[in-house]
Amino acid sequence: MNGNYDPLYLFINGEWIGASERGTASVVDPATRKELGRVPLATAADLDRALQATQQAFNVWRAAFPIERARILKRAADLMRERAEHIATLMTLEEGKPLAESRDEVSRAAEYFEWFAEEARRIEGRVVPANRPGVQQLVKRQPIGPVAAFTPWNFPAITPARKLAAALAAGCSVIIKPGEESPATALALARALDDAGLPKGVLQVVFGVPDEVSRHLIASPIIRKVTFTGSVPIGRLLSARAAEGVKPITLELGGHGPVLVFNDADVQRAAVEGAANRYRGTGQVCISSTRFLVQRGVYDAFLEHFVKAAKALKVGNGLDPATQVGPLANPRQLEKMQALVADAVDCGATVLAGGKPIEGEGYFFEPTVLANVPMQARIMHEEPFGPIAVVMPFDELADGLQEANRLPYGLSAYAFTTNARTAIDVADGLEAGMIGINQYRIVATELPFGGMKESGHGSEGGVEGIEYYLTHKFISQA
Ligand code: NAD
Repeated sequence: MNGNYDPLYLFINGEWIGASERGTASVVDPATRKELGRVPLATAADLDRALQATQQAFNVWRAAFPIERARILKRAADLMRERAEHIATLMTLEEGKPLAESRDEVSRAAEYFEWFAEEARRIEGRVVPANRPGVQQLVKRQPIGPVAAFTPWNFPAITPARKLAAALAAGCSVIIKPGEESPATALALARALDDAGLPKGVLQVVFGVPDEVSRHLIASPIIRKVTFTGSVPIGRLLSARAAEGVKPITLELGGHGPVLVFNDADVQRAAVEGAANRYRGTGQVCISSTRFLVQRGVYDAFLEHFVKAAKALKVGNGLDPATQVGPLANPRQLEKMQALVADAVDCGATVLAGGKPIEGEGYFFEPTVLANVPMQARIMHEEPFGPIAVVMPFDELADGLQEANRLPYGLSAYAFTTNARTAIDVADGLEAGMIGINQYRIVATELPFGGMKESGHGSEGGVEGIEYYLTHKFISQA
């Protein structure tokens, strides 16, 4: 147990419910492998109560004036900011990321609530001219209904925030199952919403055996919309379950972000900022840059800067202010990194930095740079979701684009060039939902966040984000 960590609950129908007779799962600090607490696992009866409550609360919340919904979401954002230091500490303890990154994440999560609070007031309809006399035609946008949301452990504030803020602003009630590895952060957001006056049952938080919870919730006729962030295989599974009930689903899945660095680019910036981006969140970031494709003329210079930047990073406990890269989230992730490097080396790759776990208590892995990686290596196809970068050369723009688009992923992609024509062509040609030109910081509250191909569909954030929680209804009146 850790004194700075919060007790863990289920939040059902406005009640904070402890484990009592229920099963629990251990929550571990990935920097020390020490248990922080135990999260209660919802029973089938808990899920049924949550479903009944979400139906009742939907009828209340959809009728609330938009300005009232907006006030509550804004008040919750204020509370998140007031409590930012505490929430950031919870996040670093349970997820491992450096405290500065956790603080930034809490602030950005609050921003989503502020953004969608405003959007709640702009859910406007249309009056469509009729082709018959005396007929009035209206198109209304209405909340789609109770939502089941599933979020992972890597961004325990911002991923729930993108879903909750948009759904609640739209007038939907939500049952969310955050990742069991980092439950306290999501509970802290729910606490802020509860304290801000959200009516009981509008938001409920459950944990459990993920497969059982998603099966139970998605199969219920009460749930009208599903949203999931996580891996491609689980996204595919939940998509099939949603299809059974003909329910729309938003999917934000994995990526294998390519970066194209052209001969005319600011190579040092592309490399130094590229390393910071690749190893941020210990590489456990879906929009991370993974494959650095560098035009032949600047390949050596890029490698030199990149390797130097990777080696200079300070890996450690996220609570230490000097730490730039924290631990991996769990032993599965650590084993996966070892396996990916071993496989690449077996195939003939060269390790230019890192490549090994760091001895000690936590799940630490060295920032790793691989070059000369043959195409058959697993890392050329699988999302590493960890601190491994691949650097490879290309000759012409068309070759670079072909490699960038080779995989079934299509989440983020980046390019560095000072040539305007190249920038336009590459932005046009990259098959990805989010593209950064001459920069890696691509996400903003005002922009739609989402992918294409197997990285998923639907957008979270921007004016687009609320659409996925609304349905259109027309009224033709004679
Ligand atoms: P995962 O997809 O198995 O789990 C991600 C989240 O989904 C977890 O919080 C888990 O509780 C939940 N989940 C798992 N099975 C579920 C089910 N049947 N029903 C409902 N929810 C379920 O991924 P993981 O093993 O935690 O991480 C491994 C891979 O997942 C990574 O390598 C990466 O590709 C991907 N991932 C992507 C993101 C993202 O932001 N897109 C986040 C986390 C993980």
